[in-house]
Amino acid sequence: MKARRLFKEDVYMKEAAAVITSVSEAKNGMTAVTLDQTVFFPEGGGQSCDLGTLAGFPVTDVQESADDIVHTVDCPAGALSEGQAVQLAIDWERRFDNMQRHCGEHILSGMFFREYGGVNRGFHMGDQYMTVDISLEAKPEFTTITWEMAKHVEFCTNEAIWQNQPVITRHFDTKKEAESLPMRKALALEKDITIVCVGSPENPSDCVACCGTHPSTAGQVGMVKIFKVESNKGMFRIYFEAGRRAFLKYQEEMDVLNTLCTSLSAGTDDVLKKYQTQIDKNKEVRTQLYLLKKDVLAKEAAHIIEDYSRGINVHRYSVLSLDDLVSLTREIGPHAGKIAFLVHEPTFTVLLVSDGKTDCGKLVKDNAQIYNGKGGGNKTMARAIFTKSEYVDTFIDLIEKHLR
Ligand SMILES: [Zn+2]
Repeated sequence: MKARRLFKEDVYMKEAAAVITSVSEAKNGMTAVTLDQTVFFPEGGGQSCDLGTLAGFPVTDVQESADDIVHTVDCPAGALSEGQAVQLAIDWERRFDNMQRHCGEHILSGMFFREYGGVNRGFHMGDQYMTVDISLEAKPEFTTITWEMAKHVEFCTNEAIWQNQPVITRHFDTKKEAESLPMRKALALEKDITIVCVGSPENPSDCVACCGTHPSTAGQVGMVKIFKVESNKGMFRIYFEAGRRAFLKYQEEMDVLNTLCTSLSAGTDDVLKKYQTQIDKNKEVRTQLYLLKKDVLAKEAAHIIEDYSRGINVHRYSVLSLDDLVSLTREIGPHAGKIAFLVHEPTFTVLLVSDGKTDCGKLVKDNAQIYNGKGGGNKTMARAIFTKSEYVDTFIDLIEKHLR
């Protein structure tokens, strides 16, 4: 027997009594149940299924099968049986979220069609956002969707929501009957067609075939917000959200904006200007730092070379970065003679540099592991990294003895 679809008769029905018409084993120890009637919307039309409880047991999935609706129930084997009267309850927050999102998508797609002749050729309801792929087909004068155009459509969409236009669902037995309505997209089905119209069917904001669940008025969608527009395979992918999710996203992003404003001592009206000022200042500071470092490193290189001639070949650094020391090795390389050690104290790293007659890479390879060190390099430059400073010192001592 085919279950009566109570969600089609009253989309606001949250609970109902039903009788089990069949029980069978499902995957992963679950139980598959069909009913004489159900409030559970099965997955379909881009809308995920309802969840909730059946006889108090969690319903984890609801799918349309050949001619019925199958509820997957997480219950002990034998807990449910054919002919049993059970109470159904759906997770209303999830359902209403689905209704807001689905209807929001309809209104938005309808407005892209009305304003720019854009046809919705793909719809995705994700966890973080929804997307529609808009193909510009019906109005040849429009060949692109700019951010300004998207904002205009977003405004029209929210205007339809404020006007609280009715959302009318009509059922037709045949394609021909359904085609009496002005639709933005050709019908794919031949019979048993449900058409959803937002606004009056004579002058709709949208009219499209859809089997999903929708609120009775556009106002219940609350709001629709577009996040970005991306050109995608000749179409335009619109990222957006509707209803509770759009509102929560707005709260979340306002928190981000407020944090930025606080850190820049700005208001939302001048935060961009102050941010740009910061960027300009940073650029200036970076340039100055670069010039200063260049100067310091040149002087340090000369100092190391001079020290080398006096027999000092170990140099320790804590302020310069490891990258700075690597630049130093390039400067002093040919003048380093047998070997020089540059120690980066914060990271227990030793850079070995030579004129090439001593093989730095081999020295590291043969000796670093004695002190739990690792690293490597080539003839003129190598690095050894240790876990504490004592190891750095004993490693240097060992190499010095080795080379004496
Ligand atoms: Zn729909």
